[in-house]
Amino acid sequence: MFDIQSIRNDFPILSQKVHNHDLIYFDNGATTQKPQVVIDAIVDAYTKTNSNIHRGIHTLSQLSTTMYEQARQMVQVFINAPHDYEIIFTKGVTESLNLVAQTFSEAFLNEGDEIIVSAMEHHSNLVPWQMVCERKKAKLKCIPFNHDGVLDIEAYKNLFTEKTKFVSVVHVSNTLGTVNPIKEIIDIAHSHNVPIMIDGAQSVQHIPIDVQELDCDFFAFSGHKIYAPTGTGVLWGKEEWLEKLPPYQGGGDMIKTVTLEKTIYNDLPFKFEAGTTNYVGAHALGVALHYLMNIGMPYIQKYESELIQYANQKLAEIPQVTIIGNAPEKAGAISFEVDGAHCADIGMILDKQGIAIRTGTHCTEPIMQYYGVPGTARMSLAMYNTKEEIDYFVKTLAKVAMMFE
Ligand code: PLP
Repeated sequence: MFDIQSIRNDFPILSQKVHNHDLIYFDNGATTQKPQVVIDAIVDAYTKTNSNIHRGIHTLSQLSTTMYEQARQMVQVFINAPHDYEIIFTKGVTESLNLVAQTFSEAFLNEGDEIIVSAMEHHSNLVPWQMVCERKKAKLKCIPFNHDGVLDIEAYKNLFTEKTKFVSVVHVSNTLGTVNPIKEIIDIAHSHNVPIMIDGAQSVQHIPIDVQELDCDFFAFSGHKIYAPTGTGVLWGKEEWLEKLPPYQGGGDMIKTVTLEKTIYNDLPFKFEAGTTNYVGAHALGVALHYLMNIGMPYIQKYESELIQYANQKLAEIPQVTIIGNAPEKAGAISFEVDGAHCADIGMILDKQGIAIRTGTHCTEPIMQYYGVPGTARMSLAMYNTKEEIDYFVKTLAKVAMMFE
């Protein structure tokens, strides 16, 4: 069962003080903290088993390879992928999204074709598509959202033409906290025979993911936002699509045979894993996912959804605070503004009270342009946060807001 105190005890960083106050870490959308099991997994791997994978017949290399491939199976189970070879390890969701944008467009995008993304994408699911569209003279279309931060599904339906080649949409907005109706969005793309990728960077740590049930074609996330090390990430793709895409990068491990004239590429997943990967990080990602499965994603989702509703309600009670994004279903993040204050000042003052939030554009400048704000303050929650922390944060913020009146 979900035991918040025992979970908090698993995260050593949470027990420290910042500016002589207990740390309240509300910057989980940027990165999450790591449980001791993940830290130990990294230390143990470098202390006991480190050796490059896939290339050695000696004991350490085989151990390292087994740990890496077991991590792949852990990801497979965690997102219920049909096959482990459909899991590609990357250095993060940004690389996963770029991999698909680059390889898909190389193989399938032609002049005049169209790609659909949403207007609430993180830059990493917008800029790669802008880049390939510019190169291929294709057109990028954006699904608009309304003032509550909810995607306009009717407008989405109307964006499809016979030129539409691909859809790539964020599951949960890192800025607005909106949980998009992703199953419906996927089904609409498929009703037009168009493949779709989901940016799960802000969903996979909050919502149980079943890629078979979702039936998307690609699903991408970063390890560091799900209690695993930085420099780790996942791209899951349906086998039929991964087989059709050309390799992303050339180098070691992604080849079967090489002559000076020609290379035969390796099978999945190695075709997309050129060079020495972050195999220790991938192993630790597997450990993080195992840790989460032991707690149970449905319990985490239930606890966090109560937490975010509580935070949303308490924040809304501060008269000087305006919440940006009021979707009926939110996960992880709440963005807000304080009357008369620049968000950076809010962030700095809260920091002095031990509260870590993020301020700025959150790599979603088009969202800032839509609301006509230079940036927002954003609190983002994880499973180790508590109502007591929210109470202290809201009390402190209310005092700060009065200072700016
Ligand atoms: N997509 C979303 C929705 C995000 O929130 C982020 C990071 O905040 C990214 C993509 C990029 O993640 P990373 O920097 O780990 O590649």
